[in-house]
Amino acid sequence: MLECKVYGAEDLRVLEVGTPEPGPGEVLVRLGAAGICGSDMHYYFHGRVGSFRIREPLTPGHEASGVVAAVGDGVSRVKTGDRIAINPSSPCGRCAGCREGRENLCSNMRFLGSASVFPHVQGMFSEYFVMPERQCVPVSADVSMQEIAMSEPLSVALHSAHRAGNLLGKSVLITGSGTIGCMMVLAARLAGARHIAITDVVDHPLSVARAVGADEAVRVDRLGPDEKLAASIGEPDVAFEVSGAASALSTCLETVRRGGTIVQVGTLPVEGIHMLANLVMQRELDLRGSFRFGNVFDHAVTAIASRQVDVRPVISDSHPLSEAARAITLARDKTRSMKIHLVPN
Ligand SMILES: [Zn+2]
Ligand SMILES: [Zn+2]
Repeated sequence: MLECKVYGAEDLRVLEVGTPEPGPGEVLVRLGAAGICGSDMHYYFHGRVGSFRIREPLTPGHEASGVVAAVGDGVSRVKTGDRIAINPSSPCGRCAGCREGRENLCSNMRFLGSASVFPHVQGMFSEYFVMPERQCVPVSADVSMQEIAMSEPLSVALHSAHRAGNLLGKSVLITGSGTIGCMMVLAARLAGARHIAITDVVDHPLSVARAVGADEAVRVDRLGPDEKLAASIGEPDVAFEVSGAASALSTCLETVRRGGTIVQVGTLPVEGIHMLANLVMQRELDLRGSFRFGNVFDHAVTAIASRQVDVRPVISDSHPLSEAARAITLARDKTRSMKIHLVPN
């Protein structure tokens, strides 16, 4: 079988290796589709994501669907032939974060395709892989493997929506219109948001945001030096900062209404940023973080499987595993690509 390994910056090798076997409680999965995410691009282009550096060859990939190829002893949740979504989170269940019900804050988290711990947790850019039964969610509905693989990014957005509190009837601003920004549009709508405005500095992702239901899409880079975003979209109740750009966080701080809420979803520069922090006090804002996702993965799978949310506009093309490096390069081009998937050869 084929397996992708990143050895360091711009050194991705597609290797022919033996197919693993599932142990007790484990499932052998044949890849359906695996989404290429920003962190996968960082591992490939830079050999690191923020402070997580590749210290041994790493198989990236944490957004995948597949088909059960075999099951180990004692597995009852899925059977051979089932189509599944794979939850990339494996919290310990014992630490304070886990016991508080905030599993995404687990201090011993093992997240697939991540160099955050050593040895690294290998990901799913692989023709076959073994997963604990607990991380496999069966899908009976007739939706594509690519749609099922969107369960992970949708989970990120659902969790962020939870962090914002009640969105019913609220007006929402989303800064950054990539895959997570578009998932955020879907999640906010699902949570009852009344009006959703979204910003970006590139046209293509904004057109996709409109296709998934954004009411207003704004090229924020085209505002004049003294032109405030609030003049065109009003003052939203809640802002989700998805882009990870320092200037976008300041836009959120200036634009939400007094007493409004800002949820930081995107990864800001690790070295720190300049921000209009005084506005947090002066306008009595709630500034909250949102990291990966807690206990919402099964909800994301159900919402996609039922097409209660339609993720299809966000899905670009698919490429075989053997062309992973080229696909990752294409995925970086925001003028044409949204979510690109790897599929078996
Ligand atoms: Zn991702
Ligand atoms: Zn834990």
